[in-house]
Amino acid sequence: ETNKIYSSSPLKSFPTNGGKGPLSYANNCQYQKNGVVLTQALIYEEITKKLDTEFLLSHLNPFRISDMGCSAGPNTFIVVQNIIEAVKSKLNLNKDMIDFQVFFNDHSENDFNTLFKSLPVERNYFAAGIPGSFHRRLLPSSSLHLVNTSYALHWLSKIPEEIQDKNSPAWNKGKVHYSSSSKNVEAAYAAQFANDMESFLKARAEEIVHGGFLAVLLPCIPNEANPSKCTINALFEFMGSGLMDMVNMVELQIF
Ligand code: SAH
Repeated sequence: ETNKIYSSSPLKSFPTNGGKGPLSYANNCQYQKNGVVLTQALIYEEITKKLDTEFLLSHLNPFRISDMGCSAGPNTFIVVQNIIEAVKSKLNLNKDMIDFQVFFNDHSENDFNTLFKSLPVERNYFAAGIPGSFHRRLLPSSSLHLVNTSYALHWLSKIPEEIQDKNSPAWNKGKVHYSSSSKNVEAAYAAQFANDMESFLKARAEEIVHGGFLAVLLPCIPNEANPSKCTINALFEFMGSGLMDMVNMVELQIF
């Protein structure tokens, strides 16, 4: 129960850009959307194969779903609709008798207003926002049937200290990514990820009812892969080097 803290988010969080302008997440999430769309069939199939909806609803009603790290939309709506369709297709009961409740979670700084304003008009569920870090408890014990999280779990709760410490063998020299760094840097990031993942799973284990379901989609590379050879890492390396150039330019202007 150590992670049952009711505060919202860590001191610093970096939510995606809100609104619907040219630089908003809503207008720049095609990459994530592709992944979400590609995995819909898999999630649908797993739900229809494995989820014991009759059993679950006899213990808890309405059917409760949460999308953790939902951002301001629109991908989260695709995910939620697919889950509801899958659960409905499984139910033998009169389908309209079942209420669905969806909890949209993200950091409190997330643009929930845009999310709420863009909720599908024709939706068949009750919607609620849940502010706060998913590395902690967000909902009461045994209150969810199904949790989804897409493209969010790879966001670490903090930068590992050693990476920022000039005297540590894991010092990353100001870089924002590990793929062209030493094994020590990679290990420091991996340890932080393991820690965060454990907090996430512990909190969800409390919240999800017995027999419930957790769907996780996140970018990763195969264990045996060379990190510097992966396309996605090359992208982060470029972005990181651009960011460092920008920081250096600001420093030059100050001094
Ligand atoms: N799931 C959406 C959005 C992914 S963007 C999609 O697939 O398109 C990742 C989101 O995760 C961001 O909105 C970010 O604020 C959120 N996020 C990152 N760390 C989080 C945390 N600890 N708790 C809650 N949300 C988090």
